[in-house]
Amino acid sequence: MLTIRTNTRVHKMDRGNTPAAYAKSGDTVRFETLDCFGGQVTSEDQRLGGLDWSCINPATGPLFIEGAAPGDVLKVEILSIELADHGVMVDGPGEGVMGSLLKDEATKILPVENGMAKFNDRLAFPLRPMIGVIGTAPAGSGIDTGTPGAHGGNMDCTRIGAGATLYLPVNVEGALLAMGDLHAVMGDGEVGVCGVEIAGMVTVRVSALKGCALPTPFLVNDETAMTIFSAKTVDDACTGATLAMHAFLMQELGMSDHEAGMLLSVAGNLCICQIVDPEKTCRMELPRTVTKAYHYQFA
Ligand code: CA
Ligand code: CA
Repeated sequence: MLTIRTNTRVHKMDRGNTPAAYAKSGDTVRFETLDCFGGQVTSEDQRLGGLDWSCINPATGPLFIEGAAPGDVLKVEILSIELADHGVMVDGPGEGVMGSLLKDEATKILPVENGMAKFNDRLAFPLRPMIGVIGTAPAGSGIDTGTPGAHGGNMDCTRIGAGATLYLPVNVEGALLAMGDLHAVMGDGEVGVCGVEIAGMVTVRVSALKGCALPTPFLVNDETAMTIFSAKTVDDACTGATLAMHAFLMQELGMSDHEAGMLLSVAGNLCICQIVDPEKTCRMELPRTVTKAYHYQFA
């Protein structure tokens, strides 16, 4: 199986990036990823302020998918996520929701074993591995890997885990898929500025879809279909995610504007992915019972 190692990584999703590897539509590919600190934190004595910021948020890749052309949708089936044996968390003044209260910086290293992340002597949490950064190259200027957007990127969505399928836009020839910033477990919101940041290995199947009308980024798992939207404010991100799902219901399920809106008000769950990145990210979750009732099949 094709494996892309961490020696080929980018800090911008950019059409000018040299492909790390080439795949055919339908291929399975493994991405080895560093943690969001580029593996710099090896001791709790290290602090955020002492890190080399040019190494932050590396994304492994990009992968060129042959036949993927602008206007297509890239289907990324997340088959598995393997994690390293420990994760890292940091905080500090100005970082995250509590940043204005903090006087100094702190670092925590969390052992990951037996399916649990050990937070302290009293608390451990079941692993819920997720991909924080995953995206394609945008059509115009490159976008820093720390920023989310219509291309995907640093969405920090807890639902982007094994068993889920992510649909991303293809803006440039080959799509140029890159990913990194795994979290062993994270709460919705990422309020402290990080999850349990960890290195690992992600296995995905990539397919270029022609004529796919899904609003992207779009995410599907066994129970839920989700639109994901990023904007400068949480309000705008919530509105964008809701309108994207509303459009999906009308275009793909044939609902009227009233029926689709009332349905979202009854059964749609609006959730925050993260509120700590340069753009904020929200998602609208729709139960798969809806798409099943309308005999809708995802491509
Ligand atoms: Ca992130
Ligand atoms: Ca992260």
